[in-house]
Parts: sequence; C-alpha cells; structure tokens
Amino acid sequence: MSNMTDLQFDIIKEQMLNLTGRDCFYKKKLEGIDVAGIENEEDFRTLPFTQKSDLRDAYPLGLMAVPEEEIVRIHSSSGTTGTPVIIPYTKKDIEDWAIQFARCYAMAGVTNLDRIHITPGYGLWTAGIGFQNGAERLGAMTIPMGPGNTDKQLRMMQDMKSTVLCATSSYALLLAEEIEKRGIGNRIFLKKGIIGSERWGEKMRKRIANELGVQLFDVYGLTEVYGPGIAISCEHEAGMHYWDDYVYIEIIDPKTGKNLPDGELGEIVITTLKKEGAPLIRYRTHDLSRIIPGECKCGSKYPRIDTIMGRTDDMVKVKGVNIFPSQIDSLLKDVEGASSEFQIMIDHMNGKDIMTIFVETTEGANKYEVENELAAAFKSKIGMTPIVKPVDLGDLPRSEKKSTRVFDNRY
Ligand code: ZN
Repeated sequence: MSNMTDLQFDIIKEQMLNLTGRDCFYKKKLEGIDVAGIENEEDFRTLPFTQKSDLRDAYPLGLMAVPEEEIVRIHSSSGTTGTPVIIPYTKKDIEDWAIQFARCYAMAGVTNLDRIHITPGYGLWTAGIGFQNGAERLGAMTIPMGPGNTDKQLRMMQDMKSTVLCATSSYALLLAEEIEKRGIGNRIFLKKGIIGSERWGEKMRKRIANELGVQLFDVYGLTEVYGPGIAISCEHEAGMHYWDDYVYIEIIDPKTGKNLPDGELGEIVITTLKKEGAPLIRYRTHDLSRIIPGECKCGSKYPRIDTIMGRTDDMVKVKGVNIFPSQIDSLLKDVEGASSEFQIMIDHMNGKDIMTIFVETTEGANKYEVENELAAAFKSKIGMTPIVKPVDLGDLPRSEKKSTRVFDNRY
C-alpha cells in the first residue's frame, strides 16, 4: 500500500515547509498543522485534501505561490458550475509540462518526423496548447487546427498528410464516421491517435481504431495539474504510465476519504512535486481509476494508473446500487448488435427509481435481442434491471466536447 518513494517524500516535505513559511494559499490551508513533524507517508495521509471548491474560493489569483513577476501565463478550468479556477504558471511550469507531454508522445512512438494534427481547443483551456507545446518540444511538425469545421479538418488532414491525430474520443469518432461516409479513407495517412482523457469504452475505441486505421493512446491530465500530459498509455494498452517525478498519486475511497490498496478502484488524488506557480497537495480530482500493481510489459519504470473509469460525480445510485458508466461500457462489449454509444436516463416515478438505457445498435442488429441480452447482463453483473431502448446508429448526439451520458432527472 505504500508507494511513496523516499525522494518523493523529501520533495513533498520541503515543499510544504516552503509553502507554509510564506504568505500563500497553503499557509492558510495547513494552518495549525505541524508540518515539520510530518515524518513519513502515513503522517502525510492525515493531511486535509485540497478540494476544487478551495481552488474556486481562491479566485482569481489566490493560488499564486510565487511573486507575480515569475508568472508567465494563466489557464482556467471549465467554469460550468459557477466561478472558474485560475491556475498561474511560471516559465518552469510551462517547460515542465512540455517535457512531460513530449515524454507522452515518445511513449506513443511519435517522432520528429510525424505531423501532429491537433483538434482540442486553444485558449484559457489547457488542452490544445498542451498538445502543441509537447509536440514542439519533441520537434514534430504541428497542424494547430483547434476544434470544429469538419470540412477543413479533413482537407488539411489529407493535404498535410497528418500522421498523428490529437482529439477527444467523441471528436475522433465524429471524424472517423465522416471519413467513412465520404469514402476518403485511402487519402488519410494517420497512424496514431492521441486521445484526451475522457472516459470511453472498448467498443468505441475499436470503432475509432478500425475506421481511422490507427493505434490509439490515452493521454491523461487536468488543468489544475499542468493539463493533459501527466500520463499516457503505452503500446501494450495496459493502463497509463504517469510521471512520478512530477506527480505523486494516491487512490482513495471517494466516500470515506481513506487510502485504498493498489489495484482497487477509487478516486485519484494528486500532489505535485515540482510545480511552482500553483503547487497542489492532496488534490481530489474526482477521476476514478486504480493503481495497476506490477511492471508493464513495455519495461518502462514509470508506474501505472488504469484507464479513467469515470468521474466520482457520474457514480449514480439507483435502487441502492452504485453504478458507473464504465460498467455499462464493459457490458456493451459482450452484447452482440450493441454499439459503443449509450445514454442513461434516471427518473423517479410512483415512489420508484427507473433507469432507462438508450443504446445504439449496429446495422441490421436484432433490436429485440439487444434489449433482452443487455437487460439480462445488467441484472447478473450489476444487480438491477433497467429499461433498455435500442436506437439506430447515429441517433444519439455526438459532440466535440465531452459527451454527457447520464441524465439524472430525480433531483
Ligand atoms: Zn507500458
């Protein structure tokens, strides 16, 4: 259960002494705690978590941990729920982020002879620029598209002979479907897809990989901790290697806050090791994953977390059963005629919770069988029976941003 190295401990301890010794966010946050008395990983685990709401409360620049002259840029995480979070970066933070992302590309086998087609958005949001800086650090040619305008995307992809596509999974799917529809597959030169950390299922992965003819890699990250690029899957597709010289990762039970043993599914909690502009201690990401024990076949010394299984906020409780959308992904894998796309609707009627799953079916599939098979699989694997509504391929909405799959209408 212990995975903090001596070096990580020394760095974290020094960082905490430093931060509590000057006027900044963590001086207040750790007030009353004897930081000098923290002697090991166990003591560290008694420290309070840093929550997204703490970061929001620090709006606009309360997280800034160095003098302003050292800050060269800010990024902001999506403010869908009220006040956004502002993260200040020093020059070194920007460099460190690029180093990490360049490592991601290298792990995916991308070289300076690749042409990297970047579709995530540029701006306050960390996505596009993260892919960009990492690619430039690697020395590859970039095609900084940003999102949208499918015609132009496909035109540039053909003319520039892009070899690497960077995208969210839903946008990669949209492009794959367009390429198929237009019959231009033989004019596409993509070899690899680097896909943002959105949770996605095995079926969707296979469709994108097949239709684009590429090998896919999951890249992970969040604005609060640099941005995308702190972890990536390798050719063995056995979870994601993370850069443990930049981040220390714990997995906790999202309900109790207790640390979980390696291998168990829980919430990722991150402590930054080198960040200057806005260091974080025990930051709760609300992303669900687990530490994968043991060594990877690729031989990399970097430890691994599993593919993101969803968000702690996506976890819904229906008829007393905890359900994660990722569980539905894995059920769909074994249902013949079911596609990768689904939506869940939860309602409360006549004193009872009712869960409806809309699922896209492949062409020519027997919808009646899909309905029965999925309902039975759900009952046996998850322990409750939903209403299953099979729909045609393409009936559910696609988006350039992260798709919403769970609609809880009970509250
Ligand atoms: Zn590996």
